[in-house]
Amino acid sequence: MMDLASLQTLVGPENVSASLEDRLVYGRDASRLRGECLAVAWPMHPEQVVALVEWARAEAVDLVPRGAGTGLCGGATPQRSLVADLSRLTRIESVDVEQRRARVQAGVVLETLNRRLALAGLFLPVIPGSHRSASIGGMIATDAAGLRAVRYGVMRDWVEEVTLVDGLGRVHRLSGDALNHAAGREGVTGFITEATVRLAPLPRQRSISLMAFDDEAALLAQRRRWLVPELTALEYLNRHAAAALGWEPRPHLLAEFDSAQGEIREPARIAELWRQRDGLYPVLAASGRWLIEDPQVEEDNLVALLSWLDAEQIPAFGHLGVGIVHPCFRPNDERIAALYELVAGWGGQVSGEHGIGLKKKAWTDDAFRAQIRQLKAVYDPQGLINRGKLC
Ligand SMILES: Cc1cc2nc3c(=O)[nH]c(=O)nc-3n(C[C@H](O)[C@H](O)[C@H](O)COP(=O)(O)OP(=O)(O)OC[C@H]3O[C@@H](n4cnc5c(N)ncnc54)[C@H](O)[C@@H]3O)c2cc1C
Repeated sequence: MMDLASLQTLVGPENVSASLEDRLVYGRDASRLRGECLAVAWPMHPEQVVALVEWARAEAVDLVPRGAGTGLCGGATPQRSLVADLSRLTRIESVDVEQRRARVQAGVVLETLNRRLALAGLFLPVIPGSHRSASIGGMIATDAAGLRAVRYGVMRDWVEEVTLVDGLGRVHRLSGDALNHAAGREGVTGFITEATVRLAPLPRQRSISLMAFDDEAALLAQRRRWLVPELTALEYLNRHAAAALGWEPRPHLLAEFDSAQGEIREPARIAELWRQRDGLYPVLAASGRWLIEDPQVEEDNLVALLSWLDAEQIPAFGHLGVGIVHPCFRPNDERIAALYELVAGWGGQVSGEHGIGLKKKAWTDDAFRAQIRQLKAVYDPQGLINRGKLC
């Protein structure tokens, strides 16, 4: 039996719970993969994360870092572990407008940060569909991408420095190549408690083009024409996804530019189109197709991937500028395995942005697993943090 009373002394009695309700809530993330949560702790500042890790080492308790729990691959799903929810580390420590960088704690929600930055005409431009909830720590841990990846890349591109508390309770400040020991590692090397992120100027102008096509080949031809420097997003909906939104059941492309290139320029209409796009996954999930995947393929294989999904009548949407597509399935659909066989055959990635977590472990290769084991040996030799994730 773990000694929760001593943990309560370290982080405050109100910041630890083993109630049935909390263990149920924290037993899964947005992937819906469920595991066993022994207890939950909410550290209030980075020093308490160090204390928590030291306590867990003494008690031999597994820890699971959690941000907002919006992850879609079971990365924050416990397996007889204590979940450490960092969502109360919410300080925006500093914003340097001139140098375009901010220092933030891990639990800061992207949308909260961007609202504050908008006052200075800046933003952190990595915008996942979950931007209203996702935490900066979770976004770094998963190397999130999203709606504007075609222009702004992935989270790793915007991180300058990360403070990491490892599995031995040591505090590292990682930058340069060493950032890869935390960014995209889904919490297996430790807890990201703070980070310095780079910022971009908010676009002065925005316009959108929305176009429907007869087939995927015509759509991909237009995709090529729209890959211009002013492009900030290029979102795809296949005809099954468009129909779910009440749109004409044809494949659609929504292109956003930071110029007047698109014909839709009225801010209210642009906001409405993005609201509908943001609402697409909830609509599909509510119809039973909540199992969302995220294969990524190179341009040459896009037509094969999109045509296969269309022929199988699988609703799909995604960030087509970077080749990430989100097919949505009902649970236990055997075509998911078939899809990944095809993607592997095309030399694509099984996860373009959501990560590996528990869900996609079977699809990783030996080189990846060896790399994770090496990092584990350095940062978490006791295997205390996010045990069983990634490999
Ligand atoms: C509707 C919807 C749309 C989405 N759209 C996108 C999208 O467009 N692009 C995209 O990339 N993702 C998307 N996602 C997935 C998800 O939102 C991202 O992976 C996001 O980055 C997770 O952030 P989080 O704070 O919720 O992390 P969590 O779900 O809490 O955790 C995710 C992983 O990171 C680890 N982790 C969390 N915080 C820390 C920390 N402080 N230190 C160390 N490890 C930590 C966890 O252990 C886990 O492995 C979407 C999810 C939903 C539900």
